[in-house]
This record gives sequence, structure tokens and C-alpha cells, in this order.
Amino acid sequence: MKDEFDYDVVVVGGGPAGSITAYTIAKEGFHVAIFDKKKKELIGDKTCGDALDRASVILLKNQLGIEEPYGEEVSDPISKMSIAANDIDTKATLTAPGYVVDRLTYGQRLIRLCEEIGVEIFPNSPVRGILVEDNFVSGIKVYTNGELKSVRAKFTVDASGSFAAVRKHLPSHLRWNDAIQVDLDPDMVWPTYREIIELKENFTPHRWNNEIVLLYEKTIPIPGYFWIFSKGPNRLNVGLGWLKSENDMPSLKETYLNHMKRYYPEDAYDVIKSGGGQIPIRPPFDSLVFNGGALVGDAGCLVHPTTAEGHGPALESGLYCGQAISKALKEEKRDAESIWEYNVKIMHHLGEKHANALLIRQYLEKVGSDSLEFLIKRRFLTDEDLDQLVRGLAIELSMTEKFRRLFRAFPRWKPVFMLVNLLRKVEKVKFLYHNYPHSPDGLQLWREKRNRTTGWNF
Ligand SMILES: Cc1cc2nc3c(=O)[nH]c(=O)nc-3n(C[C@H](O)[C@H](O)[C@H](O)COP(=O)(O)OP(=O)(O)OC[C@H]3O[C@@H](n4cnc5c(N)ncnc54)[C@H](O)[C@@H]3O)c2cc1C
Repeated sequence: MKDEFDYDVVVVGGGPAGSITAYTIAKEGFHVAIFDKKKKELIGDKTCGDALDRASVILLKNQLGIEEPYGEEVSDPISKMSIAANDIDTKATLTAPGYVVDRLTYGQRLIRLCEEIGVEIFPNSPVRGILVEDNFVSGIKVYTNGELKSVRAKFTVDASGSFAAVRKHLPSHLRWNDAIQVDLDPDMVWPTYREIIELKENFTPHRWNNEIVLLYEKTIPIPGYFWIFSKGPNRLNVGLGWLKSENDMPSLKETYLNHMKRYYPEDAYDVIKSGGGQIPIRPPFDSLVFNGGALVGDAGCLVHPTTAEGHGPALESGLYCGQAISKALKEEKRDAESIWEYNVKIMHHLGEKHANALLIRQYLEKVGSDSLEFLIKRRFLTDEDLDQLVRGLAIELSMTEKFRRLFRAFPRWKPVFMLVNLLRKVEKVKFLYHNYPHSPDGLQLWREKRNRTTGWNF
């Protein structure tokens, strides 16, 4: 019985991370199944800001031949992202090629592509638990076709988003000394609320054509923000969120409606969709693999900690995880070490950026939206600097430029010195994530070093 598997790989969740993982592995000829709790025609839909970075879909096109979003999948092509402080018009605007997508139509195409190459899709199938044998995860317990079944697989991939249907059942001996956390700390989760609105004729076209705007503002505790993303000339995706640890805040919806009044009277628009969701915002877990499985997308905490961008990272993680698992299957291996290179790729591609973004987020929390507004208005931070910072990258300045900027910041030097300190840490973190260990042996030492450098306690 032990060597009899129903599938080579079982993927829990058919969102962007799950569909790309399944597609990548099935393309290599392996037997893959996706189990999703949603109805088939709703898989891929999600309460989201809908923004998607172009770089991730170009990667899919180059590596897997999957076309970029097109036709009805694109609500508005995006060319710029603006960071505003306190007032929607006090902003720095950065080049940001991408899309505001229709999550359902794009997600449904990914599911169709999976089916076309032989992935078996099981909708209406909530996963309730996992099978663990001899130190390995060897499948799932899933409620499907009216009964609870055990489904055995050589690899089990958690792509269930923030529900973490597999991760939350992982026994501690498979979690690398809590490198994989079952529950996230409340200061690493954002509850959010968003609406998709359609503006009435007198109010169209709106002024954010091809743009997404992130507004940092006093009534929303940083790193939370209010967003306005264009979904075409007469539609907007508008929302907000802040950390779960902010206990004494009014409701998200109340704060949202108060904000909306600044831009539109209540009768200026119809609400097409509304809803909320949880976003995990911390750097990736220090390992995303375990014996017999892996975590992708939100289940592995791959959302950017300042912009909350998780759709592109979910697609990328699906590709890298799929490649590592395909290789292990060809070598007839199932242990964590055989797919460790998935960890290495994630730490190089996303880990460095997201870890630095957490440092930046912590800086923004300390300085607040007033200082950010001051730094933008005085041009202490240029558009290019903000671009680098929000992407989690270091800013490099000549000595002369440093003095010029210091002069501009007079007399508010505190946020400037804090920024200098931050930039030193950013360099160190970049080095650390580039030197993520190539096997499980170095993991614990690496984590200790990273925590000493950053002051974190993951
Ligand atoms: C309000 C909001 C706004 C956001 N805005 C943006 C944005 O503008 N840009 C951006 O890039 N990111 C944004 N994000 C984040 C982005 O939506 C996620 O990072 C992305 O969808 C993660 O993809 P995923 O495949 O990991 O998970 P998901 O898209 O969440 O998919 C998980 C799938 O797993 C299934 N599932 C869950 N539990 C089970 C179970 N027990 N059994 C079986 N199936 C299960 C679900 O039905 C779903 O199909 C936003 C998130 C929220 C909540």
C-alpha cells in the first residue's frame, strides 16, 4: 500500500499559485490533480485589488508559453504606480508596467490550460486534513463527491492561499523548528475591504487612467493604505487595509466610506462587487518545503510586505515549485532536500525583495505619513528612490548628492538618519538572502544570522 499513490502530485487550491504549479508539473508528463473548495466556474475569482505586475507574466510566457492576460482578462493596462502621502495629489509616480485584471476570466484560462494537458480538477472539494507517514506528508483528506476520502500523492502542494489548508496540519517535526509557522502573528496579517465601483456618466472618465495609487494617510495606520486602481474609464477598484494587530480601529468599511466621500458623493457610483480578505504580509517562510510537499503563493507568505502584491509572486512560486518537483520526480525522490532548490530560487527572487520591504515597512511605521509627505515634498526622496524602496532595493547616492539631500531635509533630520540606518540594513539583508544555504544543513545558522541583522524573531 505504501508505494501506491493515486497521483504524482496533489495541489490544494486552483488559484494562480496552484494552477501554475500543476501546469508546470503536468507539462513534464506527471499525473497531477487540483482539489478546490470552489465551484468549477468560480475557481480563479478572488477579492483582490486586481493589479498584476507584467514581469511575472512575461516569465510565464518565456518559461511555459502561457500568454500574458489579453482581451476581457484585462480591465485596464497599467503604466504607472503612485505613492501618495496624506493627500491623493501629493504623490511620487513610478513606472510600473502591468495590468488591472479580471481575476475570474484570467484564472479560468489558467484552469482550462491545466485541463488541456491532463490535470484532473476536483471542484467543490474542501481539503480537511493531511496524511502523514514515516516523516513524510503523503496526501490529503478531502471532502469530495459527498464523502471524506484519503488521496495519496508523492508530493502535496499547499496552494490554498491564506487558508493554508495543508500548512495548518503540518506536524512540528516537518516545520524546521518553526521556520514554517502554522498561524501568523497579528502584525503580519492585513484584513482588507474593497469595492469595485462603476461611475455614473457625469463622473466619467475618472482621473486615474492606466494608474494605480497607494495613499498613505493619517486615519489608516501605516503600513496600511487606501488604494484606487483603475479598471477602465468608468470603473475603479478601491479598498483599504491595515494590520490585524490594530485593535482599536473603527470598522474597515466605515473608514472606507469616509474616504470615498472625499472623492465622490454616494450617488455618483454603483457598487458592482464588494468584499474582504486576509493578506499575509511577511517575508517568505524560511523554508517552503518539507518531506513530501511544498507551500506556494499566499500559503507560503509570498506577498510583498509594503505593496501587498501577491498575484505575481503566486504565479512565480508555482513555476519554481513545479520545476523543482518535476526534477525530483524524475530522480524518484520525495524528500525536502530533493526540492530544496525551490527554496533557493524563492529566496533569491522574492526573499531578498520581501525581506527588505519588511524593513522599509517598519521604517514607514516609525516615521509615519507626515514625514513621508515631508520627504516627498522636499524631494529628499525622488521618484526613482521610492521606486527602489518599494521594490525592496537599495538606494545608492554619491557623497555630493548625500550632502545636497541633507540640506533639503533641514530641519527634520531624524527620518533622514533613520533612513540611512535602514539603507545599511538593506545591504546586509540583500547579502544574506543571496547566501541562503544550498541544503537544509545551513538553515538554522542562516536564520540566526538573519535575525541578528534585522532584529526579527522568525
Ligand atoms: C483585498 C485584497 C486585495 C489584494 N490586492 C492585490 C493586488 O492588487 N495585486 C496583487 O498582486 N495581489 C493582491 N492581493 C493578494 C493576491 O490576491 C494573492 O496574493 C493571490 O491571489 C495569491 O494567490 P494564491 O494562489 O496563493 O491563493 P488564492 O488566490 O487565495 O487561491 C487559493 C485557492 O485555494 C482554494 N482553497 C482554499 N482553502 C481550500 C481548502 N481547504 N480546500 C480546497 N481548496 C481551498 C480557494 O478556493 C482558492 O481557489 C490582494 C488580496 C486581497 C485579499
